[in-house]
Amino acid sequence: MPKRFTDPKDHRSGDFSLSFRLEAELDQTELSEQAGRAVRSAKAILLRARNKLERRNKLKKEEMEAVRQYAKYYFGWEENKLEERWKSLFKKVKTLESAIGNQFLIKITDQIWTTDGISQTADGRVRQFGENSKKEGPFQRNAITPYVATDYGRKGIASRQYGPAYMGNVHIKASLFAQTHSAAQVLIHEFCHKYLGFHDGPDGNWYFDTDGESPPEGAAGERALGETADAMAWFIVKIAGKMDNMDMIAVNPTFTMPPSSPGCCILS
Ligand SMILES: [Zn+2]
Repeated sequence: MPKRFTDPKDHRSGDFSLSFRLEAELDQTELSEQAGRAVRSAKAILLRARNKLERRNKLKKEEMEAVRQYAKYYFGWEENKLEERWKSLFKKVKTLESAIGNQFLIKITDQIWTTDGISQTADGRVRQFGENSKKEGPFQRNAITPYVATDYGRKGIASRQYGPAYMGNVHIKASLFAQTHSAAQVLIHEFCHKYLGFHDGPDGNWYFDTDGESPPEGAAGERALGETADAMAWFIVKIAGKMDNMDMIAVNPTFTMPPSSPGCCILS
């Protein structure tokens, strides 16, 4: 099979590696700078979110109220459910934080390929491989027990775990990196697939709008939302709280991407 990406090269921060789709003629210097900003931003967001969940008993009243509201909004969890799930939520955010703190590879591409061809809307992708698939190279596929969502009609959508599966590297569309905060959110979304085994809903299309504020139509229940990559990524971004220039994020972030743009796809 012809080589499609450059060999992985360490980012100058030393924190992660990049490779570029060969045929795309991408501006590697520029993209490397932008990717560095996106990764730093995602790290700062994860640190803040983890910290907030960790300080559970020390949160100010309004901070606690915000966490409750976001949990209800993104996961459909009422207060008692949040209490019940707090510990596992914290563990999941910690998993993401430690994953982004370790070496990983981002494959930058001009277009995202899916089983149906080139996706017009996806900004990222993580591919899922079966148990017997070959793992090689410095960035081995990580084993995970993924979740899958099923729509039971009137009974609602539920997700369950199966597996194991092996997750490939994160692919991100080059054009996304021009927007640091959008790229950070999509990175966290892809990390939810890769390191938590989260899904994109029963039809693989479970995304919030680019501002993270409009829920998808026909909201599923808490049974499914708790394990969707986009709900988790937005929950994390939102509870991370006020963003400032220290995080390389605008004070009033405007999540301006093309209208139908958020998303990724997970291929199996
Ligand atoms: Zn996704």
